[in-house]
Amino acid sequence: MSIISDSLKRIKPSPTIAVTQKARELRAAGKDVIGLGAGEPDFDTPDNIKSAAINAIKKGDTKYTAVDGTPALKKAIVTKFKRENKLNYSVDQITVGTGGKQVLYNTFMATLNKGDEVIIPAPFWVSYPDMVLLAGGKPKIVKCTEQEGFKLTAKKLKKAISKKTKWVIINSPSNPTGAGYSKKEIQDLARVLIKEKKIHILSDDIYEHVRYDNFNFFTIAQISKLKDRTLTMNGVSKSYAMTGWRIGYAAGPKDIIKAIGKIQSQSTSNPSSISQAAAVEALNGKQGFIKTRANAFKARRDFVVKSLNSIKGINCLTPNGAFYVFPSCKGLLNKKTRLKTDSNFVQKLLEKENVAVVQGSAFGLDGYFRISYATSMQNLKKAMTRIKSFCESITR
Ligand code: PMP
Ligand code: GLU
Repeated sequence: MSIISDSLKRIKPSPTIAVTQKARELRAAGKDVIGLGAGEPDFDTPDNIKSAAINAIKKGDTKYTAVDGTPALKKAIVTKFKRENKLNYSVDQITVGTGGKQVLYNTFMATLNKGDEVIIPAPFWVSYPDMVLLAGGKPKIVKCTEQEGFKLTAKKLKKAISKKTKWVIINSPSNPTGAGYSKKEIQDLARVLIKEKKIHILSDDIYEHVRYDNFNFFTIAQISKLKDRTLTMNGVSKSYAMTGWRIGYAAGPKDIIKAIGKIQSQSTSNPSSISQAAAVEALNGKQGFIKTRANAFKARRDFVVKSLNSIKGINCLTPNGAFYVFPSCKGLLNKKTRLKTDSNFVQKLLEKENVAVVQGSAFGLDGYFRISYATSMQNLKKAMTRIKSFCESITR
């Protein structure tokens, strides 16, 4: 009899983390690897946020806090939702966890019974299906094509709904495509969901502040008829370059918030007291750098999209958010190149040119790969030259 549980056998380690780790190891072994796998801003956490953490340590904020977040952080989150999303919540509708990842994990653990379905539009962030599986649920993957801008349509949503559907996940701007849903696109989905009164909506807004070209961010909880059935997850990781601090949060129905807290009380207890103090400063402090950093990301996005589209066999859409692009490599999967799958493509690219990217199949859509452009322009220039030379060499 295996010591490992059956539920753990249903899942795999996170492929995005695996690629990042592999790039790290190759670099440590002396290889000149350019890692475009990591999904985190390369910028540093702003100084005012760091100072708040240092002050918290000095003040003795070094003890357990309330399991689901300090009153100060919950208040800052309530204010954030009011200020940025025109959404009113009370503090008992807020929960704070060790990263958005833990909040999502707790949510599925707290709400899914065996066989409950979660609609996940693909391409998706790698952890959604595995978290659902771990909790005993069933991921219902809905493929969204390049022609659809990699976004879920009302028609496909309607078709995917069954009696067992418990959640629908919306992630805008999206990991891995960077696609953002317009207000109209959200309203189209909402029209379907308003009629389906038993379904809850999980909106993953973690890339809210990484957006370009005057893209107007709109989140589904702003549709008043759906607010009571929506759990909105967000966090400080991407907006404030705080991935290592591990603070994520959610706002939504009190019963779900309470259930999430119950799991946390029996697992990790509160997220780090020091990180919570830093997150208060992130949310309440100056916000100007968000725009400056988004502008830097935009310049990189423009460069990467243009470079990729100049390569024969590669096609890349221009996303309006996050720091990823999701180009197609289908034009390079054939007899001549002797590459059959996106995984072959990604593996060979790493072997031959030392560029680490993630295969599209890890995100539920074959024939693509994900590039994270959250790295310096210098690295990106080098990487694009290498990708181009790789693609030319396999078609020669
Ligand atoms: N959602 C998406 C779509 C993400 O890309 C990430 C980043 N890993 C998360 C949630 C969780 O981020 P964190 O746990 O750092 O808050
Ligand atoms: N969200 C990031 C990514 O997709 C971080 C790694 C992870 O948690 O998956 O690369």
